Amino acid sequence: MIIGGGVAGLSAAAALSADAKVMVLEGEESIGFHSSGRSATMLHYALGNPLVRALTLASRGFFDEPPPSFTDVPLGRRMPVLVYARQDELDVLDSLDADIAPFATLERADERVIHELCPVLRLGEGGAIAGLVDRSGIRLDPHALLQGFARQVRRTGGEIVLGARVARINRAGELWNVETERGETFAAPVLVNAAGAWADAVAAIAGVQPLGLTPMRRTIITFDAPDDVDASGWPFAKTVGDELYFAPESGRLFASPMDEVPTDPCDAQPDELEVALAAQRIEERTTMRVNRIAHKWAGLRTFAPDRGPVAGFAPDAPDFFWLAGQGGFGLQTSPVMAQVAASLIQGEPWPSRGVTTEQLAVRRSPSVSR
Ligand SMILES: Cc1cc2nc3c(=O)[nH]c(=O)nc-3n(C[C@H](O)[C@H](O)[C@H](O)COP(=O)(O)OP(=O)(O)OC[C@H]3O[C@@H](n4cnc5c(N)ncnc54)[C@H](O)[C@@H]3O)c2cc1C
Repeated sequence: MIIGGGVAGLSAAAALSADAKVMVLEGEESIGFHSSGRSATMLHYALGNPLVRALTLASRGFFDEPPPSFTDVPLGRRMPVLVYARQDELDVLDSLDADIAPFATLERADERVIHELCPVLRLGEGGAIAGLVDRSGIRLDPHALLQGFARQVRRTGGEIVLGARVARINRAGELWNVETERGETFAAPVLVNAAGAWADAVAAIAGVQPLGLTPMRRTIITFDAPDDVDASGWPFAKTVGDELYFAPESGRLFASPMDEVPTDPCDAQPDELEVALAAQRIEERTTMRVNRIAHKWAGLRTFAPDRGPVAGFAPDAPDFFWLAGQGGFGLQTSPVMAQVAASLIQGEPWPSRGVTTEQLAVRRSPSVSR
């Protein structure tokens, strides 16, 4: 029984459903309503730590070549990633270069290459003077990904129950029993907590010690590209510090000021100050004007205290499995995180692929996880 119909819960359900009877309980009336439906939808290596990069590398084959019958449409399309730096940020760029090099083939970009890739970026003094380019970035299709996992669950006889917000949880004998807000009851021997920003709250109602997760709000805006350019081939362009990213989005551009505002779990709404900051940073870093914001939204990126994802049984409750803390990388790591979860739950050995289960465990020492 999996609580949460976001990418974490659905991917784990799909991985488990080949050998087990699986049920997903989702509080909303649709899957992917919260974080999984509000992301920047990129796969790239400029975010996270070495553990996140290793999980991303191990997952990317799934996006390039999904299992047969998983999806009728591609799970993403290639989009180059350009990380750029000002003169005073060159040290940070060098260190990012060294961090990413084991995972992706990078090119150094000078002002000419930066201009060729993204002609609106301000260059020279106070602007971008150097960059890193990863041509293997992927703009993911989260809808195709979520639907693919959901289809896999249903095809093998699994169930996804929508509108099933879990309100009470208790353990009786060998079973976890749950009751939803509308009074339905369900029982299963193993409970998977994939409730995203609410994972600590779900643990609390089950009497399990919370992880200390922090949901962080992030804002995205979309706006029109300048009239006289075709932006469709532009990269996902990101400042080397966490200040701004933007990329083409269905005929427009999307951008985020990369805000990280600690928030209670909620239906996150964009904050007007962050919306204004996104527009201001676009105008500072590029030659574009944001005359009108076409669309804006916010979502929660939920982190464990050490910012690494968690997949493992709770040490303080039988058969209570945590699958949480996917922060800003939960889509791009979902294929492998789901396999980890399924093999741990089924007691099967985990073929390491550069990551150990100890690195993902609920209680881990800082030295193993990073
Ligand atoms: C602005 C933004 C940009 C991002 N960019 C990227 C990116 O480029 N690449 C990337 O890989 N990731 C990105 N992410 C991160 C990614 O979206 C998340 O890591 C991922 O979606 C987390 O998935 P989840 O299933 O854990 O959470 P969610 O999708 O939030 O799913 C949890 C589900 O649990 C349900 N739930 C909660 N409590 C209960 C309950 N009591 N009963 C029943 N159901 C319950 C909720 O309704 C929710 O649907 C971004 C996120 C944001 C917000």
